[in-house]
Amino acid sequence: MSTSDCQLVVIGGGPGGYAAAFRAADLGLDVTLVESAPRLGGVCLLRGCIPSKALLHVARVLTEAREAAEWGIRFGSPTIDLGAVRDWKDRVIGRLADGVLELARRRGIRILHARATFVDSQTLRLEGADVGTLRFRNAILATGSIPAVPPPLAADDPRVIDSTGALELQDIPARLLVVGGGYIGLEMGTVYSALGSRVVVVEMTDGLLPGVDRDLVRPLAQRLKERFEAVHLNTRVVALRPDADGVLASLEGASAGEERFDRVLIAVGRRPNSLNLGLENTKVIVDGRGFVQVDRQLRTADANIFAIGDLAGEPMLAHKASHEGRTAAEVVAGHDTEFDKAAIPAVVFTDPEIAWCGLTETQARSQGREVQVARFPWGASGRAATLGRADGVTKLICDPQTQRVLGVGITGAGAGELIAEGVLAVEMAAVARDVAETVHPHPTLSETVGESAEAVLGSATHLFVRRA
Ligand code: FAD
Ligand code: NAD
Repeated sequence: MSTSDCQLVVIGGGPGGYAAAFRAADLGLDVTLVESAPRLGGVCLLRGCIPSKALLHVARVLTEAREAAEWGIRFGSPTIDLGAVRDWKDRVIGRLADGVLELARRRGIRILHARATFVDSQTLRLEGADVGTLRFRNAILATGSIPAVPPPLAADDPRVIDSTGALELQDIPARLLVVGGGYIGLEMGTVYSALGSRVVVVEMTDGLLPGVDRDLVRPLAQRLKERFEAVHLNTRVVALRPDADGVLASLEGASAGEERFDRVLIAVGRRPNSLNLGLENTKVIVDGRGFVQVDRQLRTADANIFAIGDLAGEPMLAHKASHEGRTAAEVVAGHDTEFDKAAIPAVVFTDPEIAWCGLTETQARSQGREVQVARFPWGASGRAATLGRADGVTKLICDPQTQRVLGVGITGAGAGELIAEGVLAVEMAAVARDVAETVHPHPTLSETVGESAEAVLGSATHLFVRRA
């Protein structure tokens, strides 16, 4: 085993790690990227964002074909070739992972496939590569997160799965229990429901997607009521007992009882991957939940070690990881910069989608902060009508004195694409007039953003705004 030296080592090849490595290489640093998996891309590309969105697209096509009957077009019932769907999803992943590898190679980044652990603040032990010891001047830690499984739900049975298992699409279970009504539960529930499973969601709080503004969740909850067999709120799954006929789940709370399922997807959150990294051999501080503590420059308590992405705190989102990665690389290269964003967008890719950025009404209320909110219901949007998707809402949350845009929330088809305008408005400190006077193309859903801004100013073309 050899020993090697490098200027910067990035540990983890996910969207945080590879974005950091690429930026650092572009800035002229000598970069080594250590990734324990055989491919680059991390959770997001290999078993998260990308495969789930590929399957959600399949779900959307299936659903739209069914709904087209309302517009006078009838298709026969679909034949689902699960093997071919899996192959398509894997081809999407493969193409993107090859692209990331090629971009790393072109930048001259040294890639070592090995598991890294810290020996001290300047040395890593690598398992699985020819290089056994790597000495570094700076390190960026980007080891991401892993699914959280509460001990009572840990069942050593192939029918009890996490998101990785759900994305493998082994079969279409007749009846699927989804534990957790958050991002993963609702996205994967949507996939399996479209493929033909009867889906039951159990959520321990009193609403789906806790923390998200209720008026944004309402249209989705309404649609899921029709799609899913049941959504049990204020209910917990306290035990899972696999047997010959399925998995018996014990529910406690509002919908207490015992029910049998063919498969169970556990989606109750993720935890940072900070264990077994040898961090105790450094000065890095890990908080009670396992997140590595960093300052605004993404620097840990050990001055030459940085941490980014899911490992460094919420929200656990790929774009947050990538932006943090770029910032950390710039700091290592000597730039005087910080990770200081006014808005990190969030998108739940359900049907309809839910997207928001900046200040939410829920946050404003909990902070006792007064805000002016204008809503534009999609029933008044020409484009939504042509798509047969009036089940949406767009809202702007503004400062009541200055009318500065503080937050934007959108529920509806394609909300994830539409939110980008809101992010720009919040980040650029736009006021409602800036958005209202921006000409939005007709007929598009983007007009709902423009008209929400008009509503803030007191007069929107397709809304009757009562005078104060
Ligand atoms: P990761 O992507 O987790 O990458 C960490 C990497 O580090 C891994 O490749 C791992 O193998 C490697 N590693 C770990 N330990 C070591 C070690 N000791 N040595 C070497 N390598 C190591 N986010 C979105 O923004 N949009 C979405 O649509 C979205 N969908 C998702 C769907 C699912 C099902 C899941 C599970 C997550 C989804 N996410 C989504 C979240 C997103 O995947 C994460 O926020 C993102 O991957 C975090 O990036 P990261 O670089 O911090 O870590
Ligand atoms: P989550 O935090 O989004 O949702 C977990 C849900 O489970 C919560 O609603 C919680 O109240 C509920 N819950 C917790 N314990 C429970 C129990 N015992 N019984 C019933 N309900 C319980 O977590 P997730 O869905 O596992 O996703 C993890 C993270 O991955 C997300 O927070 C997000 O950061 C990321 N992600 C993002 C996307 C996206 O951006 N579209 C998609 C998937 C995942």
